[in-house]
Amino acid sequence: MTQKVQGIGASSGIAIGKAFVLPTWEWDVPEEKMDPSDLAREFERLYEGIRSSKDEIEFIKSEIREMVGNEESSIFDAHLAILDDPIFMNEIQGIIQRQYKAAEVAVKEAIDHFVTMFDLLDDEYMKERALDIKDVGNRLLKHLLGAPEITLPTDTQPYILVAKELSPSQLVHLNPKNVLGIVMLMGGKTSHSAIMARALGIPLVLGLEGKITRPVQTGDLVIVDGEHGMVYIEPPEQVVKQYVARHEAYAREMDELMKLVKLPAVTQDGLTISLSANISSTRELEIADQNGAEGVGLFRTEFMYMDRSYPPSEAEQLTVYRDAAEHYKDSQVIIRTLDIGGDKPMEYLNLPEEDNPFLGYRAIRICLDQQELFKSQLRAILRASAHGPVAIMIPMISSVEEIIAAKAVLEEAKAELRDEGLPFDEKLPVGIMVEVPAAALIADRLAEEVDFFSIGTNDLVQYTLAVDRMNEQIAHMYDPFHPAVLRLIRHTIEAAQARGIGISVCGEMAGDTRAVPLWIAMGVTKLSMSSRFIPRVKAAIHRATRTGSEQLAERIFAARSKAEIDELVERHFTS
Ligand code: PEP
Ligand code: MG
Repeated sequence: MTQKVQGIGASSGIAIGKAFVLPTWEWDVPEEKMDPSDLAREFERLYEGIRSSKDEIEFIKSEIREMVGNEESSIFDAHLAILDDPIFMNEIQGIIQRQYKAAEVAVKEAIDHFVTMFDLLDDEYMKERALDIKDVGNRLLKHLLGAPEITLPTDTQPYILVAKELSPSQLVHLNPKNVLGIVMLMGGKTSHSAIMARALGIPLVLGLEGKITRPVQTGDLVIVDGEHGMVYIEPPEQVVKQYVARHEAYAREMDELMKLVKLPAVTQDGLTISLSANISSTRELEIADQNGAEGVGLFRTEFMYMDRSYPPSEAEQLTVYRDAAEHYKDSQVIIRTLDIGGDKPMEYLNLPEEDNPFLGYRAIRICLDQQELFKSQLRAILRASAHGPVAIMIPMISSVEEIIAAKAVLEEAKAELRDEGLPFDEKLPVGIMVEVPAAALIADRLAEEVDFFSIGTNDLVQYTLAVDRMNEQIAHMYDPFHPAVLRLIRHTIEAAQARGIGISVCGEMAGDTRAVPLWIAMGVTKLSMSSRFIPRVKAAIHRATRTGSEQLAERIFAARSKAEIDELVERHFTS
């Protein structure tokens, strides 16, 4: 029987294949009581189980670091922290001591207690943490019971993995070549598992609990449409045909574009544009290479600070930044300092709930307030600059004072490193993101203070047009080609050019092929975007000419309305 189920698309892409249904990680725990004289032995068993679990997690951590990078491996720090958590451990010890229950019974009861408690909370984040507790608790149980690990098939045909819940530990053992796609009944977009599936590039649909009427069987034909969050189980022939065709068309287009990967991005009349990657973890460097990125134009470092209970140390950050710097000896890696805010969970900073998080306490505003946090990141970036061409970029700047204050902290960090004899690039470029209209309007003043600007169109559009970039209802009003946005962009570029500092664009608009003529006309020769957009933008540059682009830009800036601009752009690309 065919089933079509709408879930949440948590990692994009299409996968078609046979299901492998993962049995749940649950064991029978014998409910036997023990003799009070055995208490000491039971505690010893518990501690031994904790030690083995920790060793195993450390091992998985090092495996995952090799596989997908440091950021993802830090997920397991959260698991180690649970094994050291006094509240969790006291609960287990209390059950053993007061009720004379065996260690495995106590662990099982403690897991159930905390998972039920977190699940009751109407808080996505806590629900995700319940999954972590279950994962760690089950690992501990496995050691206490001497039970074998549930493993995934390794030598079969590639399959679609179907699971009730999938823990990060289970995901670690996945070979992305074998797993075409994942269907997970539980979980949310921000779960660690979803984050990892995205990093591994595996299509994932989740949140199907209660929606599937007949359980999926191993061997069922399944389609995962990660883009639209749709899952088909035993689909009819014509749906399979449609999806196979979509899959093939996409693959064909990609094949054509991939032929351009090694070519430079040059217009018909010889203007070269450098295309670099936006990344948020070093794992994405491989994808950047595959798409022909020349360096990193935006390294979003927030990910490293999220989903954990304490900030990453300077040493941990250094390893990540150094990996990126060493990867690109001939091009540049622009590392953006922490761009967090009320909309991103970061428990340990105790950020207050805000009515307008995008207008609130975020990014440089937090960093200038919490200077130790800021300085440790600056020190790590500076130290990485001894290993390759690195630049620092500061987000959310809206005044000259903020740059001066940020540069003062940077100077302190430099002075400390000099005192400690730690090397760094004394000429390391410092730039800012121009993403607040105020910054665009005073770009001439800001240009006197920095080495480069990178225009963050994602925020610039939302702040200029007063259109929340996360609000579906007004998404149609979120328009990078609005004349007000274009004027601010042009103003910023002209200010950079007048002062002779670097200028690039790193918002999503940089990856929009329709904007290519505008960059050419305005003299922007550096664009940074999600790696997968690079081949497409390169193809658009190959088709473009400077004169054609200048004519279009002139008309766009002379247009009286947004509708007129839309029509000009449409005509340019269809004629
Ligand atoms: C931007 O605002 O354009 C940008 C690149 O930064 P983010 O999307 O991370 O806010
Ligand atoms: Mg931004």
